[in-house]
Amino acid sequence: MTYQNFSLKQLQDIDAAHHLHPFTDHKDLRAAGSRVITRAEGPFIYDSEGNELLDGMAGLWCVNVGYGRHELAEAAYAQMKELPYYNSFFRCTTPTPVLLSKKLAEIAPEGVSQVFYGSSGSESNDTALRLVRHYWALEGRPQKNIIISRKNAYHGSSVAGTSLGGMAAMHGQLGGAVPNIVHVMMPYAFELALPGEREHDFGIRAARAVEDAILEAGPDNVAAFIGEPIMGAGGVKIPPPSYWPEIQRICRKYDILLMLDEVITAYGRTGAWFAAQSMGIEPDTITTAKALTSGYQPLSALLVGERIASTLVDKGGEFYHGYTYSGHPVACAVALVNLEIIEREGLIERVRDDTGPYFRKALAERLAGHGIVGEVRSFGLMGAIEIVKDRETRERFPGDGAAAVVVRDHAIANGMMLRATGDTMILSPPLIWTRETIDMAADRIARALDLAEADLRR
Ligand code: PMP
Repeated sequence: MTYQNFSLKQLQDIDAAHHLHPFTDHKDLRAAGSRVITRAEGPFIYDSEGNELLDGMAGLWCVNVGYGRHELAEAAYAQMKELPYYNSFFRCTTPTPVLLSKKLAEIAPEGVSQVFYGSSGSESNDTALRLVRHYWALEGRPQKNIIISRKNAYHGSSVAGTSLGGMAAMHGQLGGAVPNIVHVMMPYAFELALPGEREHDFGIRAARAVEDAILEAGPDNVAAFIGEPIMGAGGVKIPPPSYWPEIQRICRKYDILLMLDEVITAYGRTGAWFAAQSMGIEPDTITTAKALTSGYQPLSALLVGERIASTLVDKGGEFYHGYTYSGHPVACAVALVNLEIIEREGLIERVRDDTGPYFRKALAERLAGHGIVGEVRSFGLMGAIEIVKDRETRERFPGDGAAAVVVRDHAIANGMMLRATGDTMILSPPLIWTRETIDMAADRIARALDLAEADLRR
């Protein structure tokens, strides 16, 4: 039975009858019907009606090598035939996670050389949270267990991920978060910088909010700080260059571990393997997922620095934690070939030296001056467009994010898939985008902005 035997209407009806989607108002979805994406090739996705869309989100921040990579399918097929699954518990392992761990240790920032696998970013953040607390317990300081995060951070949808994250709406539905997690201000100058405050000073002030939280809790009670190098789902919020060095200094001063969540930023997006390298951050843990396999298989990897790893090995004692699919042989086989493609095709250098700067220029020259755009910003191939009613005062349109949805819907109708989060349009395209693809995207977004402005000002 293949889906081609069903009409769009039938698929939508079955979807509505049986399928609960993530982050969805189900009443709303059932009234509207879902969009059925059926195939994809290179930078394009196609829906069941044959409409072609340029995918500005690389799936969901993950398809870095683009669609239609037969090599990845072949790697999965070969591995499934030879060994589809075996666990890595009970002193067992399989070859592909072994080789992937070696590769990750080679490309990771200095001092980060161990890997714990999961199947999603949420799972790996659970691992990270448990691991840093376990580390301090092994060090004989179990009271050092508070984790400092930021408001509006996104660290996943599991209970630990939601607790670590700083999304108020998600917390509202949690009914009891993981204890001892504290949230401080985010480094988002567009909304939070004081009138006349220099970007540098704002970055320092935002980082000092972490220091204030450490002092309030008492440094002896704080295990770690966790942050996305660039907040992704929260709206591609790029901190001022002063922010991360100050965070690093504060963590060192109070002996606090530094946990990076690079689920979005790892594997080339910022023009380096890891944003830690782009930004000069020296983390103790790095959560990664998504582009590790370019989304072709579910796989996540928590990279662990030598400080934590050597304590685990020196002190011993079982860490009571792991997943059936930790180090899944098929997912790891796909990841190995995916990393090889990124390397062979020079995608990281291309983002760093060519498409990243060109993308920045296209946003600045083609979109920043638009009547409903308050700011554009980008880092590597991640970008944001702030939608405002008044460019001078930065007043937003009424309806709390409704304006961005109008832009998004026009964009989709004009062949451009991008995402609206709050009043911000976000872009995170596959790293295979060329200058021509960037021009195509800028044309389509500019047209969507024109149409949206006409609607919104009516
Ligand atoms: N951390 C960050 C920074 C993310 O962007 C995401 C997913 N968008 C996650 C964690 C959670 O990953 P997953 O959806 O694979 O659980």
